[in-house]
Amino acid sequence: MLNLILFGPPGSGKGTQAAKLVEKYNLVHISTGDLFRREKKSNSPIWQEVQRYIDKGELAPDSITFRLLKAEMDKTPDAVGYILDGFPRNVNQAESLDVFFKKEGTEVSLLIELIVADKEVIKRITSRGKIEGRKDDQDPETVQNRINIYKNQTSPVADHYDKVNKTKRIDGIGTIEEIFERICGVLDAVTV
Ligand code: AMP
Repeated sequence: MLNLILFGPPGSGKGTQAAKLVEKYNLVHISTGDLFRREKKSNSPIWQEVQRYIDKGELAPDSITFRLLKAEMDKTPDAVGYILDGFPRNVNQAESLDVFFKKEGTEVSLLIELIVADKEVIKRITSRGKIEGRKDDQDPETVQNRINIYKNQTSPVADHYDKVNKTKRIDGIGTIEEIFERICGVLDAVTV
């Protein structure tokens, strides 16, 4: 299996790149943010539990997030691999994922981090908030909170996989096509 963690701050282009990677490598894309937005649409009990965190830009509880992720993976037992986008978001989630994958006889193949400076991230998130009407993308305080959480809680995940030489960092500034080529270059180097 090829299990890729697509990593980077909110607004770094993970979703856009994941959609292109799915086509080229035939992987299953799972975005935990999208899973939560799906819960929101149906105003499910899960959404009612996590709304207070998500609307403030904080992380939802690990146990609920992991349960949602596993339920989504269960839908594709024949997947040749996954692109995880927005997960893991802290070291505890990374450790749970490692244990889970090990039990399944697989592992994280690679973490690719898109490096984008704060200023650019804020610009992109704010414009996405206007287009998509996402509450957590529109309020400046919430946006800043999400960036801070990325730095304090999420960034250490890249270090976690760096220790086993699985982290690759690439420049996340450029056209969609340029960044896609950079990602493919890294992926092709490990898959051939
Ligand atoms: P995203 O679309 O990935 O930016 O996710 C939107 C929001 O969903 C985040 O700001 C968090 O509140 C929540 N969320 C998404 N993924 C996770 C995760 N792995 N752990 C905890 N909360 C998450």
